[in-house]
Amino acid sequence: MARIVVALGGNALGDTPQEQRKAVENTAGSIVNLIKEGHEVILAHGNGPQVGMINLAFEDSSANGSGVPEMPFPECGAMSQGYIGYHLQNAIGEKLEEENVDRSIASVVTQVIVDENDDAFDNPTKPVGSFYSKEKAEELEKEKGYNMIEDSGRGYRRVVPSPIPVDIAEKEVLKTLVDDNHLVIACGGGGVPVVREGSKLKGVPAVIDKDFASEKLAEILDADMLVILTAVEQVALNFGQENEEWLSKMDTEMAKEYCKEGHFAEGSMLPKVEAGIKFAECDSNNKTLITCLEKAKDGLDGKTGTVIA
Ligand code: ADP
Ligand code: MG
Repeated sequence: MARIVVALGGNALGDTPQEQRKAVENTAGSIVNLIKEGHEVILAHGNGPQVGMINLAFEDSSANGSGVPEMPFPECGAMSQGYIGYHLQNAIGEKLEEENVDRSIASVVTQVIVDENDDAFDNPTKPVGSFYSKEKAEELEKEKGYNMIEDSGRGYRRVVPSPIPVDIAEKEVLKTLVDDNHLVIACGGGGVPVVREGSKLKGVPAVIDKDFASEKLAEILDADMLVILTAVEQVALNFGQENEEWLSKMDTEMAKEYCKEGHFAEGSMLPKVEAGIKFAECDSNNKTLITCLEKAKDGLDGKTGTVIA
């Protein structure tokens, strides 16, 4: 029996609550299949559109004088973990029952520790929230200390850093739950980023890449496999070009070379491949599978997907 951390991408979740409800039904089917195959599954997931929606809703309603408070970014992340976790628990719980699989499921609101000296804090890159005019952007920079950038001709947007995960605050709880054979959802949206300040963990406005957070989770739980489920069945060289070439496996040296050659888009495929390299380098038995939700089972059977080992 293999212990596998499954990281769900945006397409496993959808954007609106209605869309998400539908999408997770499908997701639940695939996940329960993996459990029925005898795999010990731990779930992680992204939260880009969801945290964006929550953040925007609070920005808008706090600005229009309705008395709704401003919501700090880490709190928005925590809300997204609860909202997505609820849908996943609900849909997977139903599927487990239908399929007579005896397993309980719960989400753990997860704080992921980052290093306050991470270079990412000097170079914020992740756009979050609304688009603003140049004047409003300058005002927000002055008043709130936000970092604002011009986003591809569409207006000005706040950017936050994307630091590397160092540790998971709830790791002992997660280990206990997983060892007791419970199905756990953790590190939603890459986790709520926190920095250590003496005995305190302080939430910071940042976004941890869910691919890196899932890798950290797989390391900590001593998983055999990291399975990154995304919108494509395999990873390609020369993606989208005439000479596109789909890969079924890469060793870490090849993968590093391909990264250097620029085959994987930053912010989408690159972090997945980098997470795969990092996981493989922790233990020579560790493997990462990158494929789509529908092909998860086939991928684990070695029939498709891209494996980094
Ligand atoms: P997720 O929400 O699952 O993290 P992303 O959109 O961040 O999804 O990343 C997956 C996307 O990466 C794919 O849908 C594909 O369009 C893109 N991509 C970029 N480079 C490659 C590549 N070399 N091979 C395959 N897909 C790639
Ligand atoms: Mg992504």
